[in-house]
Amino acid sequence: MRKYVIMGVQGSGKGTQATRLADEFDLVHISVGDIFRWHVQHHTKIGAQVRRTVDAGELVGDDLVESVVQDRLSAHDWNYGFIVDGFPRNDVQAEFFLETYDIDGVINLDLPDAEVERRVLSRRVCSQCGLDYNLIAHRPEVDDRCDVCGGHLVAREDDNAEALANRLRDYHAKTAPVIAIFERKEFVVTVDATQSKDDVFADICRELGLPVES
Ligand code: AMP
Repeated sequence: MRKYVIMGVQGSGKGTQATRLADEFDLVHISVGDIFRWHVQHHTKIGAQVRRTVDAGELVGDDLVESVVQDRLSAHDWNYGFIVDGFPRNDVQAEFFLETYDIDGVINLDLPDAEVERRVLSRRVCSQCGLDYNLIAHRPEVDDRCDVCGGHLVAREDDNAEALANRLRDYHAKTAPVIAIFERKEFVVTVDATQSKDDVFADICRELGLPVES
């Protein structure tokens, strides 16, 4: 059983690395942001509660976030473990999490703010199949169209300069101190996220003592 948390500012590749770790090691990937986006898209009650907050790049209230995480983990479909992405994002959430679950490792993806801006503002997602693109690193073959399903590529509602500034401010003020809490209690590995996806993945595996793919 492997239980991990992945942390890092937006655009640091959290989602990409978490998905790959989940695929490679049969972990359940729990992205709190994806759960909220799903609720917004499907017009659920939770979606109505969080839509404005998520669109503005602000943090959803701790009680709601904690109940969403607890609900998701209580499904107990994680026979080989889980990787939580986007949680905890402040000290209250971190204390709640540490009281409730034992964590085997915390992955901290380190990326300077200037690189965050460059990456996030060029990020696009397919409105049909959800595939991620980046106008710098992973351009579609035809402008604004998904290579796989032909869907229209759009920017995430919260990937704009103003929302990004909010998220960076929140990250430095509230989320970075979470690393300090984890460092006192858990095994934290910090990886240089300016590297290529493959190198970041290889560093994570090496630092966590996971068998590197052949
Ligand atoms: P993400 O995809 O991780 O960037 O999350 C998208 C949005 O979901 C954030 O900007 C917040 O509005 C909300 N969100 C995700 N995780 C949390 C969390 N742990 N605490 C509060 N809000 C969150």
